[in-house]
Amino acid sequence: MANQKYDVIIIGSGAGGGTLARHLAPSGKNILLLERGDYLPREQDNWSPRAVNGAGKYQAKETWHDGDGKELYPHTNYWVGGNTKFYGAALFRLRREDFAELRHYGGNSPAWPISYEDLEPYYTKAEQLYQVHGTRGEDPTEPLTTALYPFPAVSHEPRIQQLSDDFARLGLKPLHTPLGVMLDEGDPSRSHCIRCNTCDGFPCLLHAKSDAEVLAVEPALAHPNLTLLTNAFVEGLETSASGWEVTGVIVRRGDVTERYLSDIVVVACGAINSAALLLRSASDRHPNGLANGSDMVGRHYMGHLNSVLMAISKCPNPTVFQKTLSFNDFYLGAPDWEYPLGHISFVGKLDGETLKAGAPALVPGFTLEMMAQHSIDFWLTSEDLPDPENRVTLDHRGNIVLSYRPNNEEGHRRLIAKLKDLMRQQSACAIHGHDCHQGLFARNLFADQRIPLAGVAHQNGTIRFGLDPRTSALDIHCKAHEIDNLYVVDGSFFPSSGAVNPALTIMANALRVGDHLLARLK
Ligand SMILES: Cc1cc2nc3c(=O)[nH]c(=O)nc-3n(C[C@H](O)[C@H](O)[C@H](O)COP(=O)(O)OP(=O)(O)OC[C@H]3O[C@@H](n4cnc5c(N)ncnc54)[C@H](O)[C@@H]3O)c2cc1C
Ligand code: SF4
Repeated sequence: MANQKYDVIIIGSGAGGGTLARHLAPSGKNILLLERGDYLPREQDNWSPRAVNGAGKYQAKETWHDGDGKELYPHTNYWVGGNTKFYGAALFRLRREDFAELRHYGGNSPAWPISYEDLEPYYTKAEQLYQVHGTRGEDPTEPLTTALYPFPAVSHEPRIQQLSDDFARLGLKPLHTPLGVMLDEGDPSRSHCIRCNTCDGFPCLLHAKSDAEVLAVEPALAHPNLTLLTNAFVEGLETSASGWEVTGVIVRRGDVTERYLSDIVVVACGAINSAALLLRSASDRHPNGLANGSDMVGRHYMGHLNSVLMAISKCPNPTVFQKTLSFNDFYLGAPDWEYPLGHISFVGKLDGETLKAGAPALVPGFTLEMMAQHSIDFWLTSEDLPDPENRVTLDHRGNIVLSYRPNNEEGHRRLIAKLKDLMRQQSACAIHGHDCHQGLFARNLFADQRIPLAGVAHQNGTIRFGLDPRTSALDIHCKAHEIDNLYVVDGSFFPSSGAVNPALTIMANALRVGDHLLARLK
């Protein structure tokens, strides 16, 4: 077993770990970045719906179980850059209200131990690092910001612009989705991004998506003091006899087991795998797993209530890059409902191959391919609340068990109803009139029409931070209450999930924790 000593070891190279590596690398400290995956191969299949969505070519080849013992094939990705290789790069800030206790119909969403203002400077830095394109001032729920977006918003294509105009006519405040794509619409011939139809859910063949490999890990590797080990699965963490420090990081690389030492150890494996790693690291000193004296590790799993809804029209939707429009008018409530409903935006343009994998209801007279050509494809997100029984545990063989019962569903149902109502009021088309619009159809008929449990894209909350060691595992700096040199910087730390996509908050928090670590390492 290798016995090398580092200043910092970071485990996982996604939104949290990759961003932290980028932030710490210029310090000259000796840093080891451990990633269980490899570099994602650049090949034609990157943009093939059949390979990516049909065959799941790049998806993790693992079987987990749900709380009833049923097999789960998680839609998650183990590569350098983590899930940001596949994300839709919609990079939203949480709302200011998300940091305070917020009343929902289904219960209270707890307050964070930091305020929006504490995170604001790091949101600004994260938007710059990840080259976010957007327009300030359109979003009625946008919190106060100290800087403009670093790049102009990505424009709507005509069908999406028409929808945006329809929504505005109905009194809503449609906005341009803040996006991490390196698109230069002013100079298309030099633009890295070509605005293709295989972005959300696909890796970018051109490396033009603002993912953690391209904009964090690769620039970090320009510093000779940072080493990346790929195909390096961290099996467990060892502590000193007192249990107060992590002393060894146990890594499996192929058939070889190695042990690495470091002053600071940062876990960033994604909310499910980070909890699993801490639970796997149980010892005499930490019989329930590391940082788990309060029995918080693995609990409070959240993943949002998500639905993909297809609005089918008789006229085709020729949009190529669809994910430019969002609206947050119902984020905190509606005129007829005092509780939060959620966020409405888009997924990437669906195609027949992708639909086959989700088995939607067929619209009479349409094939799946035709449905895809005639649909506008919405993504609806509502907040799920932290329930201690929604949790990650390990079975007797150490494999992941994810138990989850959805909660707070009424707001989501109302959000869907709002969208249905709005779509009925679209302007008539010149050819078919109002008859053009055939209605809304769920992309996935399973799990009550929502994204099923295996859709763990927005996983968070399993190692929450807080002021009270009895109700949280991490302190305000995301350091384990019980261990002096153990930090967690992925989506695990969220005490509540809000209703916008999580990646920008994970990135901003990694920069915040990074500043704390730089001060500690001086
Ligand atoms: C299809 C899809 C679309 C999405 N779209 C959006 C979007 O538009 N906007 C948004 O904000 N979010 C989006 N997300 C979610 C976003 O990608 C995640 O929130 C974010 O990547 C989570 O960051 P993380 O650091 O917590 O984990 P990850 O990015 O998943 O990184 C964890 C890393 O740890 C590695 N790892 C795991 N276990 C170990 C181990 N034991 N040893 C070593 N390494 C390990 C993994 O291989 C991975 O590289 C999307 C996700 C998916 C899948
Ligand atoms: S070229 Fe642009 S739109 Fe296509 S995958 Fe890359 S970043 Fe996304």
